[in-house]
Amino acid sequence: MGLGDFFKKTFGKQVCALCGKECGVMHRTKVQGGEYVCSECARECSKHVRISEFTLDEVKGHIEYMRRQEKLYKECFENAKRETFPSPYDKQAISFADEIGMFAILDRDNYENKVNHELFRYDQVLSYERYVEKQKAAEEGKPDVFKESGVKIRLVGTRDHVEHDMKRSQMGLKVHPYIKREIKVVFHTRETDVDYTDNAVAHFDFIFGVHDDEHGLFSFGMSKKEKRDLMGTVAGVKTIIEAAKIAKEGEEALTEEKKTRIQENMNAMQNAQTGGLAVYSRRADAAEAKIN
Ligand SMILES: [Zn+2]
Repeated sequence: MGLGDFFKKTFGKQVCALCGKECGVMHRTKVQGGEYVCSECARECSKHVRISEFTLDEVKGHIEYMRRQEKLYKECFENAKRETFPSPYDKQAISFADEIGMFAILDRDNYENKVNHELFRYDQVLSYERYVEKQKAAEEGKPDVFKESGVKIRLVGTRDHVEHDMKRSQMGLKVHPYIKREIKVVFHTRETDVDYTDNAVAHFDFIFGVHDDEHGLFSFGMSKKEKRDLMGTVAGVKTIIEAAKIAKEGEEALTEEKKTRIQENMNAMQNAQTGGLAVYSRRADAAEAKIN
């Protein structure tokens, strides 16, 4: 290949493998396999993926996924009861919709001009933590100054997925189909009196039942976890009794009413096993079923 060809190939116009439009070097991404995707088509993709790591088929699948996400956002998330931290926000925020078991990252700037909103299921969250970044002071000898604070979220399927994560992924967690990197949600770019990252972390704790096995100072009796475990045990016994009856009386004995009761008992068992997360998984499944 001559030098002229090299420049033409590298800097010349190429055709987008998705929409067929010509795209210059500044307005395209080379995907795995050598085809190009233009920046207009890339606007349909998640902010949290790098399409240069995808094959063309993966990009196509991902865009389909993102279009469904936008529908889910418009039809199920926007009208749901939500808790947003920080609220109001001037950079980014996490907006929780417990009734569909999902959250969104709100972004004031949307500097990449993305067209589709994106939701994350609670059962896709592997870990979350508050972070604070500081930078060197302009003056020598002065202490480091505040740069930003926020929440770091890792989803199931993140590349550095380690062994203790695997244990959690057996507890009813789901692998995110596309996002492989840690997500940083910037809450504050100035030091503030009220740091909302704590509120967001507390809400994640609530979802994952982190404090459920603690007894409240004035609560006699059982903690939330103990209640859930007991209900799970009772449900297990009930299910076995129902199953034994059906085995004895034959399949005709399995009425709609019994089926519903067995399903309820199985849900209670699942809740006990997953630390309460299964409630949110079922809500997220129901929301997704509405869209598909
Ligand atoms: Zn295109």
